[in-house]
Amino acid sequence: MTFEEIKALDQARIMNTYGRSNLCAVKGSGSRCTDINGKEYIDFTTGIGVNALGFCDPDWVKAVSEQAATLQHISNLYYTTPDVQLADTLCSRTGYAKAFFGNSGAEANEGAIKVARKYSFDKYGAGRDRIVTLVNSFHGRTVTTLAATGQDVFHNFFFPFTEGFVYAEANSLEALQKACDEKVCAVMIEFVQGEGGVVPLDAAYVKAVADFCAEHDLLLIADEVQTGVGRTGTLLASEQFGVHPDITTLAKGLGGGLPIGAVLVDKRLEKVMGASSHGSTFGGNPVVCAGANVVLSKLDETLLADVRRKGDKIRAALSKCSNVESVTGLGMMIGIALKDKTAADVREVCMQAGLLVLTAKTKIRLLPPLTISDEELEAGIKILCSVIDQ
Ligand SMILES: *Cc1c(COP(=O)(O)O)cnc(C)c1O
Repeated sequence: MTFEEIKALDQARIMNTYGRSNLCAVKGSGSRCTDINGKEYIDFTTGIGVNALGFCDPDWVKAVSEQAATLQHISNLYYTTPDVQLADTLCSRTGYAKAFFGNSGAEANEGAIKVARKYSFDKYGAGRDRIVTLVNSFHGRTVTTLAATGQDVFHNFFFPFTEGFVYAEANSLEALQKACDEKVCAVMIEFVQGEGGVVPLDAAYVKAVADFCAEHDLLLIADEVQTGVGRTGTLLASEQFGVHPDITTLAKGLGGGLPIGAVLVDKRLEKVMGASSHGSTFGGNPVVCAGANVVLSKLDETLLADVRRKGDKIRAALSKCSNVESVTGLGMMIGIALKDKTAADVREVCMQAGLLVLTAKTKIRLLPPLTISDEELEAGIKILCSVIDQ
């Protein structure tokens, strides 16, 4: 099929929920991918923070294909090796006690919401079930996680939404305290609001929120679906904010390109979800977990330090572009506000010039492979800066 034929078939047969760019990807290796016409691109998107090791990392491919050829799936009514190994690695490296695996960020957040509500129900009885989330947050596309998302544009069409979410302005402890009445059981935050425009929370605010939650037995839930798994230069972004949330959710980068979501809970929550209280047919799939085990094995202190160094390098280069208004984010999760160009235009021109970038609200957003080489990083930055400043 030609590109035009594929595009026509997509428009005819796939629900038109995405504003797709005119590119049909056919293969990738490391930080580069190739389209159907043979054109190469440097990738600063990783499929929105998913391909943490870039395209088709050889060790990841080997683990995933060997697992697919050995045992691709069996119901969660039986034991398997890859998921227990993944849970053990995640818990021992983060200080959490137990993990639950699902298939996406939204599903992980749904799991966290269920844990928080059940913890409160078991301890305080019915009615203490509300969850405070932040204005400008993003927590997913299911009916419940849309309700959790603190942006009015997402609260449309699909009524009735799940009840029990209250929104507080970010970085205001006073606003949070006001929102937390006796019906609230948990507070959910992103350390860096990703879809909201790569906006980090103030460290002092985060600390104060954690203290306030501890004082009132409110569970602190960190949605690290985008910030987790090394993206910000530490395994979890929470490490850089000096807090340890009661629950952390992960997804995007964890599987290295295959669908997975994880809910990590502290020791005191480990028994909240008993038999039959939660489940997921595909959750903890052996092939996906085999891939995730490779991602975590590569994400050692050396690579994490390299993520911080490369993030700083991108920021330093961008600060020299005259048309850049500001650069936000942490590690290799970067938002760029522009002075007199739109992010959508820059993304389009970059693509023509052989570089893939993302947008978030009015900003350019960069989520390059954590393993990108300095040479590819420099080549991509060169294209980006010339497009921004031309
Ligand atoms: C992407 C994202 C989600 C939703 O993840 P899905 O896998 O698309 O369900 C939730 N929270 C945050 C912070 C995200 O960035």
